[in-house]
This record gives sequence, structure tokens and C-alpha cells, in this order.
Amino acid sequence: MKFSPSKEDYIKTIYSLNGSEDIVSNKQLANSLAVSAASVTDMNNRLKKESLITYYPYKGVQLTDLGIQVANQLIRKHRIWEVFLFEKLGFEWNEVHIEADRLEHASSDKVIERLSELLGHPEYDPHGGIIPNADGTVDLDKVPLVSLKDITVGQSFIVKEVPDEDSVLLNYLSQKGFSLNHKYEVTDIEMFDGTLTLKNSQTGDAFTVSGQALEKIRVSVN
Ligand SMILES: [Zn+2]
Repeated sequence: MKFSPSKEDYIKTIYSLNGSEDIVSNKQLANSLAVSAASVTDMNNRLKKESLITYYPYKGVQLTDLGIQVANQLIRKHRIWEVFLFEKLGFEWNEVHIEADRLEHASSDKVIERLSELLGHPEYDPHGGIIPNADGTVDLDKVPLVSLKDITVGQSFIVKEVPDEDSVLLNYLSQKGFSLNHKYEVTDIEMFDGTLTLKNSQTGDAFTVSGQALEKIRVSVN
């Protein structure tokens, strides 16, 4: 299956607004894509015809199983490109998302499967996001993750996922020396704004991370 880039982005937006489980309103879609209500209605009609969404009058839309499959296949393309850019072309982790957003629409399944092979069939992108399987399914039996804001003093955690679209946050985390799959211990939490003091469990280096950065960072606790 191959859809136009605008259609693919539309499906991905519904997915990112949790449209695989909940109904996403036309207003949410219009805001998120910065388009008019009329063009949302128009796109809804087109996707409905292709059985990618279910339309609930006055409520909004939800992805069908086919829609979820298409969204996951697109996310697969995006994340495999991110791994390639990061591992093979030397891009920084805060640079790869924008490039992958363009490349994902331009690549055939064949190119993606060759890339995946070249990269040793990676399971995660450089931000820790799970790479869906080629058939559009996702293995959710991986370790359950929690938000870093739910970790308390004395607990240790391993950083598993950071939001890939926020390059300012990624830059900030890199500067702090905070990296994926590394283990840290929370040694202090500032009551005023939730700033954490962390200790790198391997090197013993201590540093602080702003409370504002915590919500979207996902970690495993052990
Ligand atoms: Zn990305």
C-alpha cells in the first residue's frame, strides 16, 4: 500500500493523538495540523472511503485496524531512517527526526527492509522508541516504562525513551550528559520546581535536570 505524503501525515497525526484507542475530534486534528475545519472534513471523507478510519458524526474519528497498521508501518520507516542517520551518517540524536520525517514518505518497503538488514534489524530508534514490525504490528511485551517525573529520591532507573520531536530538550539532555540506556540514581528533588539531582551509576558524576524536562522522559525502574 502506498498513500500520498499528506494522507500519511494525517494518519500519523491521528495516531499520535491516540486515535488507535480514542476518538480524536476534528478540532484536535485541525489544531495539530494547522489546517481549516473544512480540510479536516475533506480528508476524513477520503480516509473513510479507504477504510482507514471510522467516522463518528459530531465526535470525530478513530483509526481502523488497517489505519493502525498503516500508521505503524510509517513509524517503522521513520525510525529505521533515524537509526541509519544516527549510526551510519553521524547525525546527532536531536537532528535525525526532521530528516526522517521527509525520508519516510519517499522510501519503498523494499528500501526499508534492506536498511533494516544493513542495520542488524534494530528494535529501537535512537530515542528509545520501539520500531514496529514490517507487518505493522508492535511487540509490547517489552519492559514497562514509567515517566521520570514519577521517580523518587533513592530510586535508580535506566533511561529508555526520550521524545524525538523536541530538539531543544534533546540538546539540553545531551549537554547534561544524559543518555539512553544509562543508569542513574535520584539523589535529590527540589521541592520548588521538581528539579532532580542525578548520579550516573557508572561514573558517579552528579548533575541536575530541570523538572520541566521530566514528563516526556520514559524510564525503567529496577
Ligand atoms: Zn522521529
